[in-house]
Amino acid sequence: MAAPFRAGRLLILRARYTRSCTPGGRVDIVKGNMGWIEVVVGPMFSGKSEELIRRLRRAEIAKQRVQIFKPVIDQRYAKGGIVSHSGLELDSELVKTGEEILAKVAPRTEVVGIDEAQFLGESVVESCVKLADMGKRVIVAGLDTDFMGRPFEPMPRLLAVAEEIVKFLAICMRCGNPAVHTQRLVASEELIVVGAGNMYEARCRRCFEPHLAHDKIDEAKIATIPKAQAATR
Ligand code: ADP
Ligand code: ZN
Repeated sequence: MAAPFRAGRLLILRARYTRSCTPGGRVDIVKGNMGWIEVVVGPMFSGKSEELIRRLRRAEIAKQRVQIFKPVIDQRYAKGGIVSHSGLELDSELVKTGEEILAKVAPRTEVVGIDEAQFLGESVVESCVKLADMGKRVIVAGLDTDFMGRPFEPMPRLLAVAEEIVKFLAICMRCGNPAVHTQRLVASEELIVVGAGNMYEARCRRCFEPHLAHDKIDEAKIATIPKAQAATR
């Protein structure tokens, strides 16, 4: 007798699970007292901010209490809000670290959105975990790799503790294939050089040139050497 009962129970569970599945948002329909972490990653121009804004707008429409944060370092378009490359916008609070987010989230807030999380330091991981443990839905967007194609800390750690991970790709500006990389076009080896269209572009793994920024520094140095001296080199 025990076996049919178990089978029936399984069917009920499966029905509940199916109801909770939506494209790009597996966990966002079922809402009990539990919090969770959703992470949206990918290169620049892949649509992370658009997706974050879409999810946050839906929560606002559903009259959930939403708070949105972004790092003060991202002065893209010199505004306080989250801005996508396609022009979508949502007001946000500016913070310097993940700890600041934890301090600023009100007890009644139900959904916390964070853009450009890769600029918020290690503390963003702990803050997201604490917020989820408090029962809040935490939606985070950020770059998973840097201009050299290396994992961009602390995003890999955030991925490890998240309930849901979505990776977006852009379109390679050279060949049109799926672009997983952020190509830096300017001469700088700093990890953080904030900029948009003219400083970066999306590239696929075949067209990606991780050393381009470095090569441009070398080119600039050669250009400053007087012609006669350069000729003897
Ligand atoms: P992210 O937050 O990942 O940098 P955004 O959400 O700000 O991305 O911007 C995505 C938008 O960028 C796209 O909808 C498109 O309008 C634009 N875009 C510019 N370059 C590209 C590209 N190479 N591939 C895809 N979209 C691009
Ligand atoms: Zn390509």
